[in-house]
Amino acid sequence: MNVLFPRSLKGLFQALAEPGARVLAGGTDLLVRLRAVPDSGPAAAPATLVSLDRLAALRGVREEGGGNLRRVLRLGAATTHAELLAHPLLRARLPVLAQALAELGSPPIRNMGTLGGNICTASPAGDCLPPLAVLGAEVELASASGVRRLALDGFLLGPGRTALAPGEILAAVRVPLPGPDEVQHFEKVGRRDALAVAVVSLAALVRLGRGGKIAGARLAWGSVGPTVWRCPEAENALAGRRLSLTALAEAASIVRSQVQPIDDVRASAAYRREVAGNLLLRLAMLE
Ligand SMILES: Cc1cc2nc3c(=O)[nH]c(=O)nc-3n(C[C@H](O)[C@H](O)[C@H](O)COP(=O)(O)OP(=O)(O)OC[C@H]3O[C@@H](n4cnc5c(N)ncnc54)[C@H](O)[C@@H]3O)c2cc1C
Repeated sequence: MNVLFPRSLKGLFQALAEPGARVLAGGTDLLVRLRAVPDSGPAAAPATLVSLDRLAALRGVREEGGGNLRRVLRLGAATTHAELLAHPLLRARLPVLAQALAELGSPPIRNMGTLGGNICTASPAGDCLPPLAVLGAEVELASASGVRRLALDGFLLGPGRTALAPGEILAAVRVPLPGPDEVQHFEKVGRRDALAVAVVSLAALVRLGRGGKIAGARLAWGSVGPTVWRCPEAENALAGRRLSLTALAEAASIVRSQVQPIDDVRASAAYRREVAGNLLLRLAMLE
C-alpha cells in the first residue's frame, strides 16, 4: 500500500483521483479497520492512502463573520481533538463540544484523531456529532471542482455513510457562535468512565429568555439510532417552561416513548431508552 503526503490542495485532489485512493487523517479509525481487511479480493484494502498531515490549510481554528454577519468558528477538518481542546475560544464559547472532546478516547487518541475523521466515520457513537448537531454546524466540502456547504444533518446519511462525493474531502466545519443566553451541556454514558464508546450521549443547547423561561431548546442524542437523533416533540414540550425537574421529566417521558434504539454488545435497547430520558433530567443543573 502506498501512503502519499501531498503538500498542497491541488496535490491532494490529484492524489485522490487515483483509483482506490482513500483519505488518511489521524488513522485512529481507519488503521484499526484496515487491519481486519484482506490484502486482495473485492473487499481489499485501498491501494493508496492520502495523508492530510502536511496540509496546513486544513488545520486550525479561525473566527469569521462579525458586523451584520453571524460570527462563526471555522474548525479545520484535520485539526486534532487535542488542538481543538486547547483553543481558548472553543472552550469558552462551545463548551458542549469541549466537553465531548475531553471525553473522547484517551490522550493518545485525542493527539492523533481529528474532527474530520470523527465526522466522516459517521459512527452512531461519534462523540462530536450530537454537539455539532445542536450547534447548527455546517460542513465545508472541497474537491478539485470547488467548495460546497451542507448542514451536518444533510451530510450524515447513516452508519458509515456520508454525502461525500468521490474525490471530495471534508475541509472544515463551520459553527455559529451561540449567544450568552444559550446554555450548553454534554454528557456521555459508557460502560466505564474512561476510554469508553458511548452507550448513550446527549448534547443540549437551551436558550433562556425572560424570567429563566426556555425560549428554544435543541437536543441531540448519540448511540440511540443510525445517526444523531433529534426529538422535536421533547424540544417543543420544553418551550416556555423553566428548566425544572417537572418540565424535564415530562420531556423525558416523550423521549422514552419515541426513541428506537437497538440491542448490541454494549447495552440493551431498554437500557438505552431509559438512559436517553434520564440524561435530560441533568439539565435541571443548568437553571
Ligand atoms: C482506542 C480508541 C478509542 C476511541 N474512542 C472514541 C471515543 O470515545 N469517541 C469517539 O467518538 N471515537 C472514538 N474512537 C474513534 C476515533 O478515534 C475517532 O472517531 C477519531 O476522531 C477519528 O479521526 P481520525 O483522524 O483518526 O480518522 P481516520 O481514522 O484517519 O479516518 C476515519 C475515516 O474518515 C475519513 N476521513 C478522515 N478525515 C477526512 C476528511 N477530512 N475528509 C474526508 N474523509 C476523511 C477516512 O478516509 C476514514 O474513512 C476511538 C478509537 C480508538 C482506536
